[in-house]
Amino acid sequence: MERPVNEPVLGYAPGSTERAALTAELARQSQERYLAPLHLGGERVLTRHRRPVMAPHRHTLQLAECAVAEAPEVERAIAAARSAHPDWAALSQQARSAVFLRAAELLAGPWRQRLNAATILNQSKTAHQAEIDAACELIDFFRFNAYYAELIAREQPSDAPGVRNQLELRPLEGFVYAVTPFNFTAIAGNLPTAPALMGNTVLWKPSPLAALSAQHVMELLHEAGLPPGVINCVDGDAELVSRVALDQPDFAGLHFTGSTAVFQRLWQAAAERLPRYRAYPRLVGETGGKDFLFVHPSAELQAVVVAAVRGAFEYQGQKCSAASRLYAPRSLWPELAERLVAVVEQLTLGDPADYSNFMGAVISRGAYERLRRAQRLARVEAELLVGGGGDDREGYFIEPTVVRVGSPDHALMTEELFGPLLSVWVYEDARLDEALSACESHPYALTGAVFARDRRHLEALSQRLRFAAGNLYLNDKPTGAVVGQQPFGGGRLSGTNDKAGSHWNLMRWVSPRVIKETFVPPLDHRYPFLGPGA
Ligand code: NAD
Repeated sequence: MERPVNEPVLGYAPGSTERAALTAELARQSQERYLAPLHLGGERVLTRHRRPVMAPHRHTLQLAECAVAEAPEVERAIAAARSAHPDWAALSQQARSAVFLRAAELLAGPWRQRLNAATILNQSKTAHQAEIDAACELIDFFRFNAYYAELIAREQPSDAPGVRNQLELRPLEGFVYAVTPFNFTAIAGNLPTAPALMGNTVLWKPSPLAALSAQHVMELLHEAGLPPGVINCVDGDAELVSRVALDQPDFAGLHFTGSTAVFQRLWQAAAERLPRYRAYPRLVGETGGKDFLFVHPSAELQAVVVAAVRGAFEYQGQKCSAASRLYAPRSLWPELAERLVAVVEQLTLGDPADYSNFMGAVISRGAYERLRRAQRLARVEAELLVGGGGDDREGYFIEPTVVRVGSPDHALMTEELFGPLLSVWVYEDARLDEALSACESHPYALTGAVFARDRRHLEALSQRLRFAAGNLYLNDKPTGAVVGQQPFGGGRLSGTNDKAGSHWNLMRWVSPRVIKETFVPPLDHRYPFLGPGA
């Protein structure tokens, strides 16, 4: 397979065909009230227990009614994964890849606006944010993973005279449990499909906050020809589904993206059950972030302003990679603050189906309350530079907010808030090293960006912050990683750094077998050194 090229991002400019198609699809889905089933062994199952799926930006807009699984349905989903395993694992890599390559083509064409519209309505993303996520990134995941799967299969051990060695990539023995976050339809699509591509079968528990988008991903996979039982999707109480999944002796792996606390809980639950498992489960988790912008005194100011605004406020700061702490030198701060505030004051906030809005709503009542609390804390313990408001009358709207704190250890600099709140700490230029220490010693290590014009400083900062981020950006915003270009993931509390959308991630879902064949086996057990004589 040729190395894929990234899916081009459509612009949605006024008058464009893609904008007209998206607008029509938004109108259709806004009126649809989708009936979302469980997907068990290829069957769409509607349970009696249902829950509504609402748009975060409009309390009156119910998008879907979602069937909820109880323990028996979760067990049925796992049983379906089990029985699909032998046939799916026996298919060639090319045949499995073809399913996801077809899904990519469908999504690039007739399915594009279906997934984009669902993501706009369900997760409150703007057209651009939905396009780079639900369309482009998911297409890229499908295509690049198929490419990497072939690449790693090609890596073979050496032969020796009379001996042939083969390395075979087998799927794990058992099922993989995929648990996905609300904030990226692409991540939701990638977490169950990457292990499936490698021959595994999967129980997928999507975020209840992105249930509609998850449904459309499942339907896309059906359409692409994914055999029944390969991916089984259940909406249900997270603890219950996880308990049933982790209780199984053939629980073979967890593919998780979400908050640090939840991943740690799942890891502990798996560790407690370790003796009952047939094999050591693979635990892959990409988790929280508190991503930094470190500004050197030689930085180009306007580049910092744009990176801070885009990095901190696009998708309401609800990206794991969102900029949420900024270290600024005192020499640049007055002008940086002035320019930053001026741009943030212009940002438009509202229904993302209205193309004039730069930001939509935060995802839920819980997120809204958490961010309002942080804003109140900022008013008391920090200097509020811009924003600080919220409005939940129509939807969960939080103003883009910039605050200046007095210490790099303040809670606003250390805790993940997952919303449009940027905390700034101003350091003395002469104490650059102390500021770097504060930035470096942070408990999260997902993404970060350094800004400097002088190449020597750029290199020094990059070296000094070597372990502070799994994805480091030089003079750019810390968000927007592209599959195939910036494999994504971080360390420390931010995850196991297995780099989604790369061969490193795919390696976690296979258990290699090595086969040595000796063409002419020896027929005498004695070695020459055992012979007679000196
Ligand atoms: P979350 O942890 O609340 O939920 C993630 C998933 O875990 C959901 O499917 C949820 O239903 C499930 N879950 C919740 N409680 C559970 C429990 N007790 N047991 C089992 N499962 C449970 O996260 P979220 O709000 O959906 O997403 C935001 C978080 O995800 C942020 O912390 C963000 O940094 C992180 N994230 C990280 C990356 C990355 O690549 N590092 C990418 C996206 C999001």
